[in-house]
Amino acid sequence: MQILRIMIDKILDVIFPKVCVDCGKQGEGIICTSCFFNLHLINQIKKEYRKNYDYLVYLSKYKDEMRSKLLKFKFYDSAYLSEYFTELLIRSENICNFLKKFDLIIPVPMYKDKKLRRGYNQTELITKNFSNKIGIKYDMNVLKRVKSGTTQSLLNKDDRIKNVANVFDIENEWKIKDKNIILFDDIFTTGATVEVCSKIIKKAGAKKVCVLVICKD
Ligand SMILES: [Zn+2]
Repeated sequence: MQILRIMIDKILDVIFPKVCVDCGKQGEGIICTSCFFNLHLINQIKKEYRKNYDYLVYLSKYKDEMRSKLLKFKFYDSAYLSEYFTELLIRSENICNFLKKFDLIIPVPMYKDKKLRRGYNQTELITKNFSNKIGIKYDMNVLKRVKSGTTQSLLNKDDRIKNVANVFDIENEWKIKDKNIILFDDIFTTGATVEVCSKIIKKAGAKKVCVLVICKD
């Protein structure tokens, strides 16, 4: 299945050659080498001792080019950018090597009404793409959002934790018991959401949780 998918991708690349989303250059995929280096990604892997998760991994600070791309991705219909962010992750070798020790990728879910409105959930899209490329399975049926909660950006950290405290739930606990989990979200701001999610993932028996985000505020 994986080989078939790679072959189809290669054939599509020949018929419809990808252009760099930043400069339009052809033949180097969705981002060319020089635009990639211009992003100055910092690719951090941070061990955490006082959190519900064990590691925090991110590509970049939430600023400049990365910020505008993520905002575009979040609020406009640009699902194609999921491929772009996946490519940034895949090209970050130290991060990929580190993540290969983990068993399963779980995206932070979006409430279903919101997903219907937007037409897609950006974290799910990147999760699927990235999972295919790195070869770690994903599962969308473990971590569930059972309530919508107020939009986090309007609240401070304490209120954010309260706001998301009962918003998430775990189904199919057996799928994560004794497993090392990558919890994926696009942006880390105060960390309230991933704290709450990691807590219930650990409670369900997961061994290690690594929070993976594109940008950290
Ligand atoms: Zn370029």
